[in-house]
Amino acid sequence: MMRTLLLGGTGDALKIARRLGPAHIYSLAGLGRVPDDLTCRVRVGGFGGIEGLAAFIETESIGLIVNATHPYAAQMSHHASTASALKNIECWALRRAPWQPQSEDDWREAIDFPDIIRTLAPYKYPLWTLGREPLAHLDEIPPAQHWTIRCLDSHPGNARATIIGARGPFSLESERMLFDTQQTDVLVSKNSGGAATEAKLAVARERGLPVVMLKRPNLPPVQREFFDTNSLQDALEAGSHSQSLSIKPLK
Ligand code: NAP
Repeated sequence: MMRTLLLGGTGDALKIARRLGPAHIYSLAGLGRVPDDLTCRVRVGGFGGIEGLAAFIETESIGLIVNATHPYAAQMSHHASTASALKNIECWALRRAPWQPQSEDDWREAIDFPDIIRTLAPYKYPLWTLGREPLAHLDEIPPAQHWTIRCLDSHPGNARATIIGARGPFSLESERMLFDTQQTDVLVSKNSGGAATEAKLAVARERGLPVVMLKRPNLPPVQREFFDTNSLQDALEAGSHSQSLSIKPLK
């Protein structure tokens, strides 16, 4: 039987996964929470590169890959597009629209981690909200800085770093409190898009603080691209996949 393989790890992916019947597979890297209340099958962990994914497509009779990973999950996205082409199946992608700066915003785009570090040089209390990457650099924090790093899981900090384990969504009030307690003078972010983690940008805006925004990676072309979960869901329901694969229609 042909199946849809949904690559997830985001709130949007989980919304789609909740609509999938038992023939489908929802795949997670294993960084975040693994839902235990889905009708579809859930698998966790990497496939072992392009070859591993191609083999998975074969053995599980996957007929469609839906890539709903985070917009910065460039490697998984390339693997999905390449393996699906190798196995001659379609790859669709859910690509969240990026946030757009407003007129009062002071965003500085950074192309990579060293570029972020250079941009942060004049500031004392950066608030990092782009995942685990800064944890690997705790020993390199400039003496004049104290970093606050918010990521999914808490980790021990050091004299120059406070690490906060937290999962969105985050409210405006809680973000204001975080900026206050940590004396934030610059925000570091990915341009994730979506509402769940957008409040931090509003707080930076109302305080006139700069935002160092990590540039989005280039993502590979796919057969169909969607910008919201409803249109993806509609396409899954309309496609031949829904017939044999029990995609549950939206109520
Ligand atoms: P990645 O760098 O593109 O993927 C790295 C490897 O993880 C892949 O090659 C694959 O391993 C495995 N993998 C990723 N997604 C998978 C999935 N859905 N199912 C099975 N295996 C998967 O992506 P990433 O490590 O997930 O994250 C990249 C960036 O996105 C990070 O900077 C992270 O902070 C960010 N991110 C943010 C969120 C969020 O805010 N919600 C969620 C996820 C990621 P194999 O090669 O072995 O198949």
